[in-house]
Amino acid sequence: MIKVLIAEDNAVNRELLRELLEARGYTVVEACDGQEALHLIEQAQPDVLLLDIGMPVLDGFAVVRKIRENPRLATLPVLAVTAYAMQGDREKILNSGFDGYLSKPINAVALAEALEPLLSKRHGNQSYESQASEKTRAASAMLGGGTNLE
Ligand code: MN
Repeated sequence: MIKVLIAEDNAVNRELLRELLEARGYTVVEACDGQEALHLIEQAQPDVLLLDIGMPVLDGFAVVRKIRENPRLATLPVLAVTAYAMQGDREKILNSGFDGYLSKPINAVALAEALEPLLSKRHGNQSYESQASEKTRAASAMLGGGTNLE
């Protein structure tokens, strides 16, 4: 099950995103400001973050900077969701640690097209935990039941 965290201060936009994402079968968690978003990344462990730029407490640029500075969170795919549409803004966003960019108003096709490359990258990499347990299984298969590691 893919879990998406929406960090967006506008309730109407949050609801729209939730509906579009749930229609695609994703689980949705919502944050209303940047501080709550950082908290929920740790608590809910989303597969991808949809991050509004203009938010109270911490804006999207501050949130993505903190994510990229934190070794435990640094690989989380983050998609900017914003009405900032000028060419210079787009470049600033893509140079600030975001993996992609989605312009408001949101529509279902653009959302799917922006999310899919991030999620396939994520699934290609798997989580550290499942990688570790696969390595453990492979190692015990190679060693067989009674082999001493030394
Ligand atoms: Mn906003």
